[in-house]
Amino acid sequence: MLVVMHLNASQQNIDAVAKAIESMGLQAHPLPGSTRTAIGITGNITAVDPNRLASMEGVLELVRVTRPYKLAGREMHPDNTVVKTPQTTVGGGNFTLIAGPCSVESEGLTVEIAEFLKSEGVHLLRAGAFKPRTSPYSFQGMGREGLEILKKVRAKTGIGIVTELMDTEEAEAVEDAADIIQIGTRNMQNYALLRRVGKMKKPVLLKRGMSATLEEWLMAAEYILAGGNRQVMLCERGVRTFNDHSRNTLDLSVVPPLQATSHLPVLIDPSHGTGKRAYVPPMALASLAAGADGLLLEIHPNPDKAASDGLQTIDFATFTKLRKTLGQLSPVLGKKLS
Ligand code: PEP
Ligand code: MN
Repeated sequence: MLVVMHLNASQQNIDAVAKAIESMGLQAHPLPGSTRTAIGITGNITAVDPNRLASMEGVLELVRVTRPYKLAGREMHPDNTVVKTPQTTVGGGNFTLIAGPCSVESEGLTVEIAEFLKSEGVHLLRAGAFKPRTSPYSFQGMGREGLEILKKVRAKTGIGIVTELMDTEEAEAVEDAADIIQIGTRNMQNYALLRRVGKMKKPVLLKRGMSATLEEWLMAAEYILAGGNRQVMLCERGVRTFNDHSRNTLDLSVVPPLQATSHLPVLIDPSHGTGKRAYVPPMALASLAAGADGLLLEIHPNPDKAASDGLQTIDFATFTKLRKTLGQLSPVLGKKLS
């Protein structure tokens, strides 16, 4: 249910409606728009009669929201969400590049990559300190030591940090080190983790579960939004199919329906989406054409020596070439490369 307020409704009117909603045991989510405010209602609405809200001062109408993802959907929130970090903005017509190694490997290497990215005009570095690996015998990431390295790299270069949170136990440490907290594909339906990041003050990058439908993905985002964190972006990273030509099937066809259904920015990860470095640049360009808001890319000065995901990691020269082509194509496609 959505309570649409009159153009001239006062803040007092809005507060009174929100209070009435809370008194019914429901949650009120004021959604200020460009012309008027609406108040979204979540909770078990079947048990109460919200119609009495219709006669309150300042209320224009009550609108039934049919989609199960009330806060992630466009019905209650028609305007696109723009996510802000201290370094840059995701959404709002920008095409944002986030790049870096799969894993934090050492301070020297992470600084080298961050400095290269800064010289390319990139403001956000991706690098995992905690790595979700299929085998328990593979490199698991540097853990807390990796987070300390990321903090130093941020202090030294000013680059923003995107890093994965895998476990609620590490929530505070990751929130402290990150400018954007990544939730990986394997944790898209880890509800304890989603609730925890819903309480955080930092933006969240929610990867699509490798077999998640659009609805399941948006319901996962809903957990974070319902917790109070509105700074959520979605990241398509490939899904499982019958194909045997790439690691995953990068589902670029999800971008238009996702943008029609949700106001959240959509990023694409062609590195995990293809699993092969030669396929990354063409799919990165296709992501821009499909209407995405940016990319998450794995890069390394020497991909063959990367501690994880080397096969899908591009080198600096390939990144520079790709960035130049994206720069040429962005204005044609109505986006600003950032
Ligand atoms: C990653 O970004 O390095 C990663 C582990 O991604 P995903 O969760 O998509 O596999
Ligand atoms: Mn990786």
